[in-house]
Amino acid sequence: MMQQRKKVAVSACLLGNPCRYDGTDRKNDTLLSLLKDVDIVAFCPEDHCFGTPRPTIDLVETEAGARAISSRQGQDVTFAIEGYADAFFKAHQDITLFIGKDRSPSCGVCSASVWDAQGDLLRIDAPGIMAKKAIEHGIEAIDAEAFVKEKSRCD
Ligand code: SF4
Repeated sequence: MMQQRKKVAVSACLLGNPCRYDGTDRKNDTLLSLLKDVDIVAFCPEDHCFGTPRPTIDLVETEAGARAISSRQGQDVTFAIEGYADAFFKAHQDITLFIGKDRSPSCGVCSASVWDAQGDLLRIDAPGIMAKKAIEHGIEAIDAEAFVKEKSRCD
């Protein structure tokens, strides 16, 4: 019987999609070479919700936890990203691994920065809004740089 290929969710910008806030990509050829035996499911919550190009987003600590705040007039855009994430994970229930773009307030897994309301940096190891949803859905999640480092070890 043919073995089913593993399904892995990957930030679309790492695959070469020009969906970053400024219309660029962050294609990672090493990552792609490590994923040649799996089925990749691309995602980009920010492009889907806000289009490209778009204002940047920061995670800001509030009484309700870290929220995604757009640099345009300071709107809280957390719900839009969460809505996209929930729909994505519902549509792809067979995903077993989430690989997110490091440092993104949406996709970073243990690498997003959180600021306080005065603009002071509180931490640099937070999950982004979509990565947090992946973890809540019980999916193993890892930053792309950590994944590449782990898979490239020669011991
Ligand atoms: S880091 Fe995430 S939200 Fe940002 S461009 Fe890449 S896929 Fe889209």
